Amino acid sequence: MNISIEKTTSPKAIPTENLGFGKHFTDHMFLMDYDRQTGWENPRIVPFGRLSMHPAATVFHYGSEVFEGLKAYRTESGKIQLFRPYENAKRINSSAERLRLPEIDEDIFVEAIKELVKIDEAWVPKNFGESLYIRPFLFGNDESLGVHSIKRATFVIILSPSGSYYPEGINPVKIMIEKDDVRAVKGGTGYAKCGGNYAASIRAGENAEQKGYTQVLWLDGVHRKYIEEVGAMNVMFKIEGEIVTPELSGSILPGITRKSCIEVLKDEGYKVSEKLISIDELVDALENGKLEEAWGCGTAAVVSPIGKLYYDGKEYIVNNNEIGEVTQKLYDKLTGIQWGKLEDKYQWTVEI
Ligand SMILES: *Cc1c(COP(=O)(O)O)cnc(C)c1O
Repeated sequence: MNISIEKTTSPKAIPTENLGFGKHFTDHMFLMDYDRQTGWENPRIVPFGRLSMHPAATVFHYGSEVFEGLKAYRTESGKIQLFRPYENAKRINSSAERLRLPEIDEDIFVEAIKELVKIDEAWVPKNFGESLYIRPFLFGNDESLGVHSIKRATFVIILSPSGSYYPEGINPVKIMIEKDDVRAVKGGTGYAKCGGNYAASIRAGENAEQKGYTQVLWLDGVHRKYIEEVGAMNVMFKIEGEIVTPELSGSILPGITRKSCIEVLKDEGYKVSEKLISIDELVDALENGKLEEAWGCGTAAVVSPIGKLYYDGKEYIVNNNEIGEVTQKLYDKLTGIQWGKLEDKYQWTVEI
């Protein structure tokens, strides 16, 4: 791929404190256009700035958008690495296929990320826990209001230095089990990482927050009975020594952290089952002291222990509202590999 590069003439000051999440953006961005006649063309890195778009662009009206989220990590020796970026490449294509957006060659997807991160290399934070968040996204860009499959699309990558998810140590979160709104249904877009799923999830999240909870635990859209995800993370439980996590039923996002956790746990000799988990089973485990640990997992937090669960008028405490042994082990193992403190025997990291 021949990427044209236009460097900024007015580089910004690079923030080093109070990075937060998604607040600061680097000096450059990657863009590429798609036209059904010619395919993907004009890959370019340009100064970070606003996009100029037609008001009839498909994405504004019919929500044709998919995205990814991954990070670049700086190791102690100064090396910069990505974590399983080909998994993100595969997933954006699976999401794009669902929304009939054009797919992107996996090598081009990863190469575009590498080139952009190289140019803004100085923006990759230096401390453990901090990283450069990478947000690739792809949207329909036909300049007409007719509802039909996409003829034009745009692919963009932006970069945002982000702070540690746990600046004050890992504290368990309070989760409310959502009984009304659902995030996705089988046959819908639940397995696709698309903006529309998020748009539909905000109301329940806001409602939970007003009641003092951090996030919601989603139940399936048909029976409101089976556990799906927690907020925008996959969820895992340790029940009587066994690790259980909802199976990928079509309405659940196939998380790369989820996949990595399963591989690490199996490798360490744990029994891991991907299956349907009903709310009754979970409540029974909570009431009878069988639920030993619960945690969410995703790129942003790696793992997020669940300390309290609210369902049907009752609040349950999990593991004394403390981080559990398995949750801690997963955190140490994955962050160890990502920040280059532990040997990467799985060959998950890709150097930039
Ligand atoms: C991105 C995402 C996840 C986590 O996926 P990772 O690849 O582990 O970051 C889980 N659930 C939803 C809804 C997501 O959008």
